[in-house]
Amino acid sequence: MTFRCILPAAALAALLATPAAAQRELTVETTELRGGIVMVNSGIAGNLAVLPGPDGVLVIDNHLPDTGPATEAAIADIAGTGVPRFILNTHWHGDHTGGNHHFAHQGTAIAAHHNVRERLLAAAAEWTEADGALPIITFGHDLTFHMNGQTVTATHVPGAHTDGDVIVHFPEADVIHMGDLFFSGLFPYIDLDSGGSVAGYIAAQRRGLAMAGPDTWIIPGHGPLSTRAELAAAADMLEQAQRRVAALVEQGLSLEEVMDENPLADLGETWSWRFITTERMTAILYRDAASQ
Ligand SMILES: [Zn+2]
Repeated sequence: MTFRCILPAAALAALLATPAAAQRELTVETTELRGGIVMVNSGIAGNLAVLPGPDGVLVIDNHLPDTGPATEAAIADIAGTGVPRFILNTHWHGDHTGGNHHFAHQGTAIAAHHNVRERLLAAAAEWTEADGALPIITFGHDLTFHMNGQTVTATHVPGAHTDGDVIVHFPEADVIHMGDLFFSGLFPYIDLDSGGSVAGYIAAQRRGLAMAGPDTWIIPGHGPLSTRAELAAAADMLEQAQRRVAALVEQGLSLEEVMDENPLADLGETWSWRFITTERMTAILYRDAASQ
């Protein structure tokens, strides 16, 4: 089931941990999966998963700093109430945690890996300093919710997109939310300055693949609802891209020389997008390989 509504939201500038600059119209698309779980895709900010039911609402991620009311309205359309009992942040970036303060002020408990709270504390951004922006429940290896007939387990993976990422698994419903460990059909952003690594990112995707079967719905951090096939394609692409750039680094090429070679040119035809262009993907892979 899919329907669309237009909601006000923030600029793409907030895709990372920067404060939102301007209001803009945002299309929110909701898709009902299994077990009552609904994916909310805004097209700009990170995808949400909403689990409504008698035990209260659980929401995975919560959009941008100034999208609280719009996100609340989208959740209310699904769950009858727009105020979740719990919100889980998949990692610290502002397009996944920006709504923390909005919902915390209404009584929602925010949960995340220890490193998410640490990175939010350390970030000098307006929205991270907002009252209520910090998770009040933190965990190390994993955290499990038992709500609305579903088991929902968030498992931390070592340095991948950041150092605080989790894979969220709904085993009964056969649904996985990968957070930004998966940009479906797009070059991924790997935040090396937040403890991310290319090898860790690929390992996290392989781990997600090991959890998934042929019918598993996989919610990416960004991009459309996906399956095992799209996640496998993303992991294979990234491995190939990593190998190509690492080979040039081993030959002693400078970043400028690697850019001239443009080793990802063919991949860029399919995977490049406005935020992670072929050039930026190459630069991330270069920096990662050069630091090994
Ligand atoms: Zn992110």
